[in-house]
This record gives sequence, C-alpha cells and structure tokens, in this order.
Amino acid sequence: VDASPGIAGAFGPRGRVDVHVHVSPYWPDPARNVHRPGLALDVETLLAEFAPHGIDHGVLLQTRETPSVEETLRQSDEKFRASGGRLLRTSTVDPTRGEEEVRRAVELWEKHAGLAAIKLYPGYRHFYVHDPRLSPVYEFAAKRRIPVFFHQGDTLDVDGLVKFSRPIEADEVAVRYRDVRFVLCHFGNPWIEECAEIVFKNENVYADTSGLLWPPGVVYYERMLQRAQRRIENAIVTIGHPDRILYGSDWPLQSIATSVRVVTGLHLPDEHKERILGGNARALLGLP
Ligand SMILES: [Zn+2]
Repeated sequence: VDASPGIAGAFGPRGRVDVHVHVSPYWPDPARNVHRPGLALDVETLLAEFAPHGIDHGVLLQTRETPSVEETLRQSDEKFRASGGRLLRTSTVDPTRGEEEVRRAVELWEKHAGLAAIKLYPGYRHFYVHDPRLSPVYEFAAKRRIPVFFHQGDTLDVDGLVKFSRPIEADEVAVRYRDVRFVLCHFGNPWIEECAEIVFKNENVYADTSGLLWPPGVVYYERMLQRAQRRIENAIVTIGHPDRILYGSDWPLQSIATSVRVVTGLHLPDEHKERILGGNARALLGLP
C-alpha cells in the first residue's frame, strides 16, 4: 500500500503528473496486457485510480496500433474532453511507412493546436530514432516546444527488435536537436545505466519510470520492485540530480498504486520524490 497521500497533501491536492498512460480501443491484447483481470480501459477508471495519489494530469500516449495519424488525434481529442482536460493529447507516426506519411503527419499536427507531446515506437516498428526520415518530426517538436517520447528497451511484442530501442541510439538526436526535449520511456529498461548516461550527458533528455514491473503476480514481483527501485536510485546518483526524472505508470499495464510506489519507495529526500512525481513533468509540459 502506498503511504504517500500525506506527502501529496502537504503540496495540495494538485500537483502530480503521470507522463505515461494509455486509454485506447487499440491497446494490444487487453485480456493479457492489463494489471488486473476485467479492468475497464476508459477515462473514468483511470481517473479513479489517479485520485488517491494526488495525480491531476496524465500524458495520454497514443498506441502504435492506432490505424492512422488522424485517428490518434481523434482519440486524443475525445479523451481530453472526457477527462476535463486532464489527459493531455499526443500523436504518433511510423516512419517506416515512408517520408510521405511523416510529412502528412506533421501537416496534421501543424493544424492541431493542443498537442502536448509526440510518441515514437522504435523497437516495435524497426527504426532507429536517428532515422533521417524523422527529421520533420524533430523540427516540428523544436518549433512547437513539445517533447518527443521514445519507447525504450524491452518490447511487449516478440516481433519487436530491441537493438532499435537502446538509449544509446538517442544520444545522436539529443545532440543534433538541442532544442527538442526527449523522454526515454521505461528508463531504457533493461539498459537503465545506459539511459542514465544519456540523461546525464544531455540536458535535453529525460527518463520516465513507467512499465518497469511486469507481469504482476510473478513469483519475484516484490524483488522486481525492489530491484527496480535500487537501479533507479543508482541511475539518479549517476545523473547527479532528480530534475529530469519523470513518474509514469504505463497504465493499464501497471496499476497507478504500484507505479507510484516505485517512486515513493526510493531512498531519496521526499522533496526529490515529489519533483519526480510531478514538479519535473509540470515544468517539461508547461503545466501551472
Ligand atoms: Zn507505454
């Protein structure tokens, strides 16, 4: 049980942000990829899980299965409205569909005023984040000052190729696009130390703590949790500060309670943990 509502209380009911959630009819294999059987994949259920943990905003990352860029924007707008503006809007594009697809995506994004972030799925879609076909995406992100999230590390899908999702591959775009803030999802797991180096070296690179515990109920679950916490602590020591570490859950894959517990159980000052749970994300996303 998470013992942190007291800390949230000290900072007021507002403040925490989950930078990595999914609510989508295109979520892959929902019978398998949810943190408890029968979980309803809707905005109401997610917001109800947020409530006891003082989370007022989530970054709603569109899935790689969403059939078109138009549909990512439609899904984003629908969930943004249904959540009273608490689930921030994102889109995604698959550069392996060609330069024309990327150009069209950017054109649609240009017309959409409310995008909070772009998410890319290297690994799943077999491209490197420094693929030249992605240049228009990074130029758009620089112009609009919105962060680009990369799926990193292990893939749920056995057809994924993890060579594409290693944090070291993000170094090149971090250097080339200094004006773009990049978020390395899942702390690059299992390449957490590699991820820490990329965050340490590049002031425009962040890491999120989402999706580190999966599947629930495996024999070593508690030990997995403790190991994840020790590895994140070590990574933060490598980086030297917690200012670019962002709390994320990867809901519905992981419960909000467990994912918050990953952070609240870190051996760090409470003030640093609260920055990870909200302050850093608010600064990144321009939330008041
Ligand atoms: Zn995710």
